Amino acid sequence: MATLVVVGTQWGDEGKGKVVHLLSEKADYIIRYQGGNNAGHTVVFNGQEFILHLVPAGILEPGKKCIIGSGVVVDPQALVEEIRFLERKGIKIEDRLFVSDACHIILPYHRWMDQLREIQQGKKRIGTTRKGIGPAYADKVARVGIRMADFLSLRLFKELLERNLKEKAPLLRKACKLSELRREILEKRKKQLPIIKDLVVDSAIMINRIISQGRNVILESAQGTLLDVDYGSYPYVTSSNPVAGGACVGIGIGPTQVDRVLGIVKAYTTRVGEGPFPTELSNSIGKLLQEKGKEFGATTGRPRRCGWFDTSIVRHAVRVNGLRSLALTKLDVLDGIDPLKICVAYRYRGKLIREFPTGREIFKDCKPVYIELKGWKEKTKGIQKFNLLPRNAKRYLSKIESLVQAKVSIVSMGRSREETIIIDRDLIDFNF
Ligand code: GDP
Repeated sequence: MATLVVVGTQWGDEGKGKVVHLLSEKADYIIRYQGGNNAGHTVVFNGQEFILHLVPAGILEPGKKCIIGSGVVVDPQALVEEIRFLERKGIKIEDRLFVSDACHIILPYHRWMDQLREIQQGKKRIGTTRKGIGPAYADKVARVGIRMADFLSLRLFKELLERNLKEKAPLLRKACKLSELRREILEKRKKQLPIIKDLVVDSAIMINRIISQGRNVILESAQGTLLDVDYGSYPYVTSSNPVAGGACVGIGIGPTQVDRVLGIVKAYTTRVGEGPFPTELSNSIGKLLQEKGKEFGATTGRPRRCGWFDTSIVRHAVRVNGLRSLALTKLDVLDGIDPLKICVAYRYRGKLIREFPTGREIFKDCKPVYIELKGWKEKTKGIQKFNLLPRNAKRYLSKIESLVQAKVSIVSMGRSREETIIIDRDLIDFNF
């Protein structure tokens, strides 16, 4: 009987999909609260690999129900394709998948705008997935967005579409013919509507009812804290709030309804896209982390930049998410790497900075200050008990705990659910 928020503590791709899938065993509802189909959660289940972009990873667990909350921006075409993908794999979504009527929708013109802006910005580009997420959120805030409830009514949808096409015409004409774009959108809507309309619900009513019935609920974020539009490495961020506070806004509950927050953290650091990354390794160790960790984007296939564990950014995540517990993933990727380094602070123009700085010019020039720890030779994959981990692996974990001031409650050493050590059983049992 509890509500758990699951957040990423770095630049995303921490392995949230695997951990949410593991936790969903005892959950009743799994709910996404922000982002769009720019996310990519990879889950290995029954020997098959599933990459989910919009639908919460809990859908893979038979009988569990999933909701796409109002804070998510939904591309109707991407949703239809993901539903078809799941059905081809034998996963039924009927009476199991719901979409908030307050979700803003992504239309093809948002994708055009995303691409045009990235191209225009040249070297200063953000490195977005170019799926129109940012422009859709911009429309939401500018109060010209189209919501799922509007999408259901042809008359209203047409009216809002015209208004948007007119407003965006000067930019869109550089990329496409407006008459063709309008026709494409309306024709696609006709095919999308029968698949989507029955999924649409007032999710705030639904979720508050579920919580008051005492169900176990997971609220899952996409991306990570350092990609948060307010608390991340701005401007190299996403356009929504992956932090735990975003969960309340993104599904329509009050903070009193959240019982616990779990942060997912990778045993080292990665990031896709542009932007400063103080502990990035452009040497053979960076390459090794990338290859061993299979660090290639689930949505774009782009190679992820890799580097040492950075405690300043994770401490920041612990702070802004109110974390006490962490699930640490990919410990197995560090097997055999000796020595290991952990960044404990930055040096900026001769000064020591311990905490992640807000100023973009400062962060860009921060140089990592490292401590060195001895690595381990043994394979950690398959180990089921914390005590059986190599001594230096335990030391690595306990150093991280003391530097970021949060407990490691789960350790993951492989892609499948079985390759996990549960330290805090209450977390898995929703006993909090
Ligand atoms: P998410 O977006 O946070 O869910 O992360 P991704 O799915 O993009 O990336 C995580 C990748 O790491 C996926 O391919 C997972 O299957 C994989 N993964 C998760 N946990 C572990 C682990 O402990 N060890 C290894 N080797 N791979 C893992």
